Amino acid sequence: MKNLKRFVLLILLLLTLVILSSLFNHHRKLTIKFSNFYLLSENLYIDSAIERSKHSDISILVQNAKQRIISKFGSFSSSPIIIIAGTSQRAKAYGTNDFGSATAFPWDEYVVLGPKGYNIDVLAHELLHAELAYRLGYCLREFKLPIWLDEGIGMQVDYRKKYDIDIRLVNEKEIKRVKSINKRPIFNPNHFWSGGEKQVVLNYQISKALVSGILNQDLNSSLYTMIDKVKDGKAFEDVFTINKTLHNR
Ligand SMILES: [Zn+2]
Repeated sequence: MKNLKRFVLLILLLLTLVILSSLFNHHRKLTIKFSNFYLLSENLYIDSAIERSKHSDISILVQNAKQRIISKFGSFSSSPIIIIAGTSQRAKAYGTNDFGSATAFPWDEYVVLGPKGYNIDVLAHELLHAELAYRLGYCLREFKLPIWLDEGIGMQVDYRKKYDIDIRLVNEKEIKRVKSINKRPIFNPNHFWSGGEKQVVLNYQISKALVSGILNQDLNSSLYTMIDKVKDGKAFEDVFTINKTLHNR
């Protein structure tokens, strides 16, 4: 009993530390309402450095990116706060690179786009991360969702050719390496995004092809149905897997 109490306390402490470090790293996102960013429409904030003449293009881009997800998976239910940064420095201050990223807190999801990320592939990818976080809830997404699966799902709405690969030509060892990349390495930078551009592109290519193979094998099972199964207690690895019986038919 004592050990169980200690274990629960340790988990609570770890969770508090993760949330506090997240708050510290992302405090600018949380205070976006009080910044000089322009609120273009609900939850869409645009850097004051971006000319007004570009506002309607950005608004259309956001609508189109959401529509791409709806066309592919049937719906888009979350309302992430979207922050469009006008410069590299501003993107960095808001916790992202020149392209963009998605972050989830227990109460909200945030998508930040950098100056090179104003395109439907990048935005749809990041919005799908936010949708996934919304559907899974903070703890499942933060502590259980494998990184190859998170990125592989995001890549399903990213149609850039450079991320396509024939998975049959990829060495089994490489696939194992990508599937075993830890989401939260304590001491090292995350291996998914290290090793140079070629390596990072390969990591995305493998993740995209793996998820595509899993989703395409059974037309009766949609992405969101699979997410619901995980929410009901099944392990990600058991739900998002190649179904041998389907393959042997
Ligand atoms: Zn991603």
